[in-house]
Amino acid sequence: MAELMLYTPVRLVSNELTYYLSLLLEVGVYMNGNSFDDAISEIKRKIGKKKVLIEPGDLYAYSLDASTERREAPGAIVRTYADEDVITTLKVADEKRIPVIPRGGGTSLTGASIPVVPKSIVLDLTPMDDIQVNIDDGYAMAEAGATVLQVDQACRNEGFFFPPDPASSRYATIGGALAENAGGLRGAKFGVMKNWVLAMEVVIPGGKKLRIGEPVLKWRWGPDLISLFIGSEGTLGVITRAWLRIYPLPEKVVRIMGVFNKLEDAGRAISEIRRRGYLPMMLELLDKETVDIVEEVLGYKFPKGEAMVIVDVDGPIEAVWRLARQVENVMKENRGKTETSDDPEKMKNLYLARQGAYAAVTRAYPSVLHEDITVPLSKLVDALRELDNLRRKYGLRMPVFGHAGDGNLHPDICFDPSDKAQARKAKEMFKKVGELAVRLGGAVSGEHGIGFVKKEIFLEEIKSVRGENYLELVRKVKRVLDPNGIMNPGKLWF
Ligand SMILES: Cc1cc2nc3c(=O)[nH]c(=O)nc-3n(C[C@H](O)[C@H](O)[C@H](O)COP(=O)(O)OP(=O)(O)OC[C@H]3O[C@@H](n4cnc5c(N)ncnc54)[C@H](O)[C@@H]3O)c2cc1C
Repeated sequence: MAELMLYTPVRLVSNELTYYLSLLLEVGVYMNGNSFDDAISEIKRKIGKKKVLIEPGDLYAYSLDASTERREAPGAIVRTYADEDVITTLKVADEKRIPVIPRGGGTSLTGASIPVVPKSIVLDLTPMDDIQVNIDDGYAMAEAGATVLQVDQACRNEGFFFPPDPASSRYATIGGALAENAGGLRGAKFGVMKNWVLAMEVVIPGGKKLRIGEPVLKWRWGPDLISLFIGSEGTLGVITRAWLRIYPLPEKVVRIMGVFNKLEDAGRAISEIRRRGYLPMMLELLDKETVDIVEEVLGYKFPKGEAMVIVDVDGPIEAVWRLARQVENVMKENRGKTETSDDPEKMKNLYLARQGAYAAVTRAYPSVLHEDITVPLSKLVDALRELDNLRRKYGLRMPVFGHAGDGNLHPDICFDPSDKAQARKAKEMFKKVGELAVRLGGAVSGEHGIGFVKKEIFLEEIKSVRGENYLELVRKVKRVLDPNGIMNPGKLWF
């Protein structure tokens, strides 16, 4: 007998519940054990059984990502080696109403790449990792499973580089980074993934392959379907390859570190650097709590202050030092103590606190809720002060570091999950941090995305800032592309 799969990945407010019920009843995300087994047999027959994994160990491994959350193990994993594997899987899954979760490196911090519905197929794109750099035409073509770092390195061999650089770039794939609209340290100057795509190929449910955009430096037609898939977290279709703009390697990079006794001074220096139009390649900020934890866990020693700011400027050799001195002067004018270098070893040292931040925090605490808010640059210091108030009110450690150049902060809420009171406080704080971002005119996610971990607060943000009409429109778009609701259910808006 058919079994109706109702799922509640997060606490659903009544409107959401109505939506899920209507989705389930109208389009019927619906299956039974037999149709799942039939689907897997058919996929094995068509693409080869070696590409389909169903061993318990494999299913367990693919039930986790970097979020430390877990909901359901997949029913099967399909490892794709060519477009045809993706097309076949999406055709069969759509016919049989089987949920499909595209997956790259599994580095999502929001549970975006793990199933929340039983008997899902996880589609592992990592075997598709071809990269071709075409300097003459100004792009790199990468299959979805190539890592961001591999693409960057392939470009560097030719004197160019790929600017978006999520800190996870060694494992994060091009497909995953596009689906999350990932950013990184160089975002202050170069923006995020969406700024670097010329064209992509996608497969939508039913196994239909589409080429969107053009691999040329200038083209225009609309509406722009590329943007529809950027940041869609695998909920509309599967990205199989992308043509990405590339950038010439700078001749020289100089690093400046400034330490400030007062957060306000650091905030003023950051806005002044931007106001004077210096446009650094990297502009990072760390609060005292972050620096303290890196010292405690990794044993380094840093100059003391309420905030540390690390800036990279780049350019031709004749110009870059002049720019570095200008940035350094802004820091000094705002009472910062500075150190500046273009020596690779010294540059590494000036970056140690930022480099070690994530590792130190996750090593020091059994559980960490990673926040990822963005606030307007003019509200950066207000945000940091209010975060400090939250930290005091709840009595939990919350190091704050992030990409000050684009207003993107990562407050990391540290707690022990075996202590119920702490776990409850951490969850409350998580919500308050998101609310703070919205109140200051920002967003609950700057780069890590929504998945299911941030879904509740994200939907609240959308409703309060944009209203129900916006939500309704996005859900209509979803129904056009994915009428049976098989793509990554329970994530983002859906
Ligand atoms: C230590 C660490 C540091 C991080 N630093 C940053 C950072 O600096 N900046 C940043 O933006 N993020 C960062 N992240 C978050 C994460 O690495 C990024 O979101 C990354 O882009 C995810 O890539 P992935 O290949 O691992 O995707 P996955 O985790 O596998 O998937 C993420 C989402 O993309 C979808 N997806 C994956 N591949 C495809 C595809 N081919 N087609 C359609 N949908 C697809 C999945 O369904 C899922 O919804 C960090 C994570 C960690 C663990």
